Amino acid sequence: MALATTTASFSVSSPPFSSCLYHRRRRSCDVVTAASASPARRSEAVQREDIVIVGAGVAGLATAVSLRRLGVGATVLEQGTSLRAGGTSLTLFKNGWRVLDAIGVADELRSEHLRIQGIKMRSAAGATTDVLREFTFEEEAPGQEVRAVERRALLEALASRLPPGAISFSSKLRSIAGQGPDGTVLELEDGRRILSKVVVGCDGVNSPIARWMRFSEPRYVGHMAFRGLARYDGGGGHPFEPKVNYIYGRGLRAGFVPVSPTKVYWFICFNRPTPGPKITDPAALKREALELVRGWPADLLTVMGDTPDDAVIRTPLVDRWLWPGLAPPASRGGVVLAGDAWHPMTPNLGQGACCALEDAVVLARSLAAAAAGSDSGLGSAEPYAEAMRAYERERWPRVFPLTARAGLVGALVQWENPAVCAARDGVVIPRLVRLGPFLEHTNFDCGPLEPAAPPPSP
Ligand SMILES: Cc1cc2nc3c(=O)[nH]c(=O)nc-3n(C[C@H](O)[C@H](O)[C@H](O)COP(=O)(O)OP(=O)(O)OC[C@H]3O[C@@H](n4cnc5c(N)ncnc54)[C@H](O)[C@@H]3O)c2cc1C
Repeated sequence: MALATTTASFSVSSPPFSSCLYHRRRRSCDVVTAASASPARRSEAVQREDIVIVGAGVAGLATAVSLRRLGVGATVLEQGTSLRAGGTSLTLFKNGWRVLDAIGVADELRSEHLRIQGIKMRSAAGATTDVLREFTFEEEAPGQEVRAVERRALLEALASRLPPGAISFSSKLRSIAGQGPDGTVLELEDGRRILSKVVVGCDGVNSPIARWMRFSEPRYVGHMAFRGLARYDGGGGHPFEPKVNYIYGRGLRAGFVPVSPTKVYWFICFNRPTPGPKITDPAALKREALELVRGWPADLLTVMGDTPDDAVIRTPLVDRWLWPGLAPPASRGGVVLAGDAWHPMTPNLGQGACCALEDAVVLARSLAAAAAGSDSGLGSAEPYAEAMRAYERERWPRVFPLTARAGLVGALVQWENPAVCAARDGVVIPRLVRLGPFLEHTNFDCGPLEPAAPPPSP
């Protein structure tokens, strides 16, 4: 297959890549960094890599760390100038912790984040003390591990396991310029070009790589979320029990959960036909959030009031269902997707980041086996293409149903109909909800991070 590049002046004459085992040094003769390249040189020179991961979010960093643990190096391109510092927190369940254990960052995060003991469900109409239902994980879902982890802490813990320089910041992918036998040509906003045998698209929900692979745009599901992180730095910290607090209204729900002794995460989900204009003034965002839940239980309002304005964000909720036969494959040539770039899902099950972590382990295992295969002389591209297909075969049955289920749960809990909400508060929550079966999906275990056997030599 000839290299089909959209840029006429560009040609690739490098010899085929050999291996990407981590102990091999990256070929440095024609490597050009953002800092060192003059604009003229940037447009001519090609940086060559074996594995490039686009996006230093949860999926990208976890994939890089997993690969590294299997002896395979990768370069991570991140558009930001540093790791994302904001973004409040992510509730991680047992399946997410299994992955963090496998890649060696769980204990560090456990020491900084409270273990959540249970769930308290209330109605917005009642007083702070009126509880519809209260569960403990120990009784209803023994062995469950739930913690709300600061996104910043998660990203920093993952990044700390990578060698210096593994993440290239200020490196925004502009486009995929072509694919050929030697790999895929990436074009960056600053004019750099990178030829990589393998490209892992971890560029999030608005992934330009997914667009290039002809995935449909993520679908807005009709509700939006506010999130915030309250701080209790002075004195004795916050007064809340380590429980998830859910409060249900009509077409509106909110919740809060302690993250650490000094931080509490909260959220509001509200119906809205279209996402509307982006609000950039943080104080206006917080006012809008408080207005939505005016008159709701006092503890929620206290937590929101204790949140710095710049720690409040508003996000439209989107997903993309990977219908068999309709969604494109997860890989195209040497390019593969992971995390939200492949399967954006609504946060109703708290599984987006957990699944991104699972993807990372499964993909890294597959790619590492292919790297070993390519080392044993199986040729350059085919072992990786097969590794990507194997990854998709393993992950699709997991992520498609979860995406659909998260969407359906969201549609149910966002109902506005007064009779339906009364039935929810009077019958469904107090009598019918069972935590164990509801959290069944968190029992998933994608296994240890051990290299799969390389394919046999021809
Ligand atoms: C309201 C809300 C609440 C949530 N709560 C939870 C929860 O409790 N538990 C849970 O498990 N999940 C939760 N999620 C889901 C979770 O946030 C995502 O699933 C997770 O962040 C996906 O990680 P990712 O690495 O795929 O994408 P991201 O975290 O979005 O990372 C993508 C990275 O790619 C970079 N990037 C993008 N484009 C380019 C480019 N062109 N060039 C270079 N870099 C680029 C971005 O800067 C970013 O660093 C929630 C989501 C929302 C919206």
